[in-house]
Amino acid sequence: MSGDRALDLPIAEASRLLEKGDISARELVDAALDRIAETDHSIHAFLHVDAQTARAAADRVDRARTITNREPRPPLLGFPYGLKDNISIRGMPLTCGSRILEGYTPPYDATAVTRLREAGAIAIGKTNLDEFAMGSSTEFSAYGPTRNPRDITRVPGGSSGGSGAAVAAGQVPFALGSDTGGSVRLPASFCGVVGLKPTYGRISRYGLAAYGSSLDQIGPLARTVDDCAAVYRAIAGLDPFDSTTLEDPVNPGDEDPDDLRGLRIGLPIEYFDRGIAPGVGAAIRACVDRLAGLGAEVEEVSLPHTRFALAAYYVIAPAEASANLARYDGVKYGLSRRECSDVVEMVASTRALGFGPEVKRRIMLGTFALSSGYYDAYYGRAQRVREFVRRDFSHVFERVDVLATPTCPTVAFRLGERLDDPYAMYLADVLTVTVNCAGVPALVVPCGESEGLPVGLQLIGPHLGENTLFRVGRATERVARR
Ligand code: GLN
Repeated sequence: MSGDRALDLPIAEASRLLEKGDISARELVDAALDRIAETDHSIHAFLHVDAQTARAAADRVDRARTITNREPRPPLLGFPYGLKDNISIRGMPLTCGSRILEGYTPPYDATAVTRLREAGAIAIGKTNLDEFAMGSSTEFSAYGPTRNPRDITRVPGGSSGGSGAAVAAGQVPFALGSDTGGSVRLPASFCGVVGLKPTYGRISRYGLAAYGSSLDQIGPLARTVDDCAAVYRAIAGLDPFDSTTLEDPVNPGDEDPDDLRGLRIGLPIEYFDRGIAPGVGAAIRACVDRLAGLGAEVEEVSLPHTRFALAAYYVIAPAEASANLARYDGVKYGLSRRECSDVVEMVASTRALGFGPEVKRRIMLGTFALSSGYYDAYYGRAQRVREFVRRDFSHVFERVDVLATPTCPTVAFRLGERLDDPYAMYLADVLTVTVNCAGVPALVVPCGESEGLPVGLQLIGPHLGENTLFRVGRATERVARR
């Protein structure tokens, strides 16, 4: 078999071919590099590709195979992947989609990258994103937008749009993204791939450029639920470099996806209200009906504080961002400082030049929300809303095992359509930010189409409920294909 065909196979299948020696890691990596060369001029999923290092790593895998045939075989041995460019890997530039980091190359690897290397995976390059992961369309990248491989007049979603597009275009079998308010799930839904936002604390944030630290999680995007789960299991778990990581063991799941008897699915009424495009709502409901056909019990539930979550998120995330982005001062990283007569002017003019308009808007919003006199009215209140949202989820998970919702009220919108209207852009996140506020996990699985574009089903689980999500996600794949 050719590397090109193997690149489109599920990871477990391609892995067997690699093990037998039917294909080599080098062929797989070359196939990915060829795909990128063929397609990326129209999609622009990658900001940086390191072909030489990737080929050398693949050759090392192939050589080791002939010498030792190591047991047990690392689960991702020989598979190339893309890395969102707000995650550090030694030897490749880190831009966060911003001019302010231009020229900066981190001297260390993120823990997720270290673990992928231990699992045998090969980083092939850095994927495009909205500047500092702030955005829902990848149009806020300082290096130009990414386009949706399903229709290049449309956005891929954001902020991990490069990772979603790279997987959807078949350039790589999987990619890492980050999700603060929906940034893994929205691109998964818009591009028609699978994406996971893990439980807060499940995957180390060490080496992820901080946006909203109490909300941020790294998450995998892949073509299938099994592939996504394999990547998740390779990178999840306790890390001494991130004190918010959880100790709980990462268990394999082994449930039968064709039998959902005993599973209770909740449909939160607030996620199906007037604002949802009829075609999107219909695709989600049709899919849930089919899941019921596999034996799941479906009932309507309510998460009454949902309607306050977006407003609270757009106070909390910018507040944390305004603090996290203070470090980009023209002294420590990247963009060389402006020559000025004093330090205040130097910092101000470097930041004025280095940050784009959306990042500046967030810094202003966040700084205002945290300023004395307004702190309690905005930040304090938003934190109280967050607690109510969290409680909504813990109550509802006493009754159901999983929630099924749309990921976004619409399918992928057109490039440029929301650029001049920040509120319209923020509304794309209305169904995803609740999950980050509560810290629970959510998996997006393609479930159908509307207007000829993919619709992703969002499955939300309780704290550490990833395996339930994978089970229902696999069932979703089956019924969506039928
Ligand atoms: N679109 C949201 C924002 O701009 C979410 C971004 C993210 O998850 N990184 O904040």
